[in-house]
Amino acid sequence: MWGYLADPEYTVSTVENRLIKLRESIEQSRDDLIELTQSLIQLPTINPPGDGYLAVCELLDARLRKRGFSIERVRADGALGDSDRYPRWNIIARHEGKHSGECVHFNSHTDVVDTGDGWTVDPFAGVLKDDKVFGRGACDMKGGLAASIIAAEAFVDIFPDYAGAVEISGTCDEESGGFGGVAYLAQKGWFNPDRVQHVIIPEPLNKDRICLGHRGVLWTQVETFGHIAHGSMPFLGDCAVRHMGAVVASIEENLYPALAKKQTAMPVVPDGARQSTLNINSIHGGQSEPEQGYTGLPSALVPHRCRMVLDRRFLMEESLEDVRAELHDVLEAAGEGRETFRYELKELFSVLPSMTDRESPVVKAVASAIESEVGCTPDYVVSPGTYDQKHIDRIGRLKNCIAYGPGILDLAHQPDEYVGVQDMIDSAKVMATALVTLLDVETNL
Ligand SMILES: [Zn+2]
Repeated sequence: MWGYLADPEYTVSTVENRLIKLRESIEQSRDDLIELTQSLIQLPTINPPGDGYLAVCELLDARLRKRGFSIERVRADGALGDSDRYPRWNIIARHEGKHSGECVHFNSHTDVVDTGDGWTVDPFAGVLKDDKVFGRGACDMKGGLAASIIAAEAFVDIFPDYAGAVEISGTCDEESGGFGGVAYLAQKGWFNPDRVQHVIIPEPLNKDRICLGHRGVLWTQVETFGHIAHGSMPFLGDCAVRHMGAVVASIEENLYPALAKKQTAMPVVPDGARQSTLNINSIHGGQSEPEQGYTGLPSALVPHRCRMVLDRRFLMEESLEDVRAELHDVLEAAGEGRETFRYELKELFSVLPSMTDRESPVVKAVASAIESEVGCTPDYVVSPGTYDQKHIDRIGRLKNCIAYGPGILDLAHQPDEYVGVQDMIDSAKVMATALVTLLDVETNL
């Protein structure tokens, strides 16, 4: 019976009471949240090669099935990186509300990067110290995954009559481009706007920041060609490395100053990334590096090939065509006065910039939840590098997507990575409160 609808004050107080219960339930889940984060860290899902994805899916399956979620496990058959030795497993858990409505989806990647050196704790033990959980993937992003699970469970318990659905996915390979994870699922329709309307990716952006998107990327390989000859008579050859030197000089003279002038209205953090950037990723020319232990001298050769990989990050204000044309101009300028200059330009990878509108429903819901649960107005940021939002936007055609989650971004991929327990609790409250805004029947009257 909807009798109380006649009395708006009663409605408000009912929602308020339930919100209090929701917060209490999340506070009381503290030990459970810590244990869940620890058990996720204890599965070393290092990528590459992409180990242990099935084990993570089994852990999430066992937990969420018990809480009334229906489970689908999807292997990215034939995707980049998928093999029988390292199968690319993903999991999607869905909970249906009592009434039909929209779906809020929490997407977390389950892979972590290699540990590297410098750890003072076991990176896969999930050590709890000073109210922080330590380990590889603690902040990026098993802590975020755990927080979203606690948030979703508390919401479906306390608001069982909600309208719509809540989904939680654990996807692989984000650290290596996401092709066996979100890209694959998006291609198969899992992020179509007719089945999912709001996406929150709990990457470690801090509990008071909403990440609206990321800059664009164009990776290219430039190759210059020459002519091999004896090194004592370089005039009989044509040095490909010198041609590449001209390309680098042209980049220094023409491109870097132009990029510095391209400032963006996107709120990219850190500030240095609030413009177009270019990284010269690598240059290889001439003889390959000798094997370790080789004690001989190099042979005398004029290099006939040189390859350079460029990592260009671009802005909403630029088009991919502009970026391509600009690089083409730089290469043409490098060839001026060099009679034998020849090059080949190959595109390796590109992603368009993505930025969700500040007025979109998921942004507004999370912003007001940060105000009520963390007690501050949120910062809106854009990531300098890309993450799985690119696939949700470009392949899934879903624009209503943000990254929001606990943890400090700078700790990602570092030794002694950790996530603060209180940060996880606070961001779980934000996520749960955003669910109320987006899916609760009474709130949406
Ligand atoms: Zn991440």
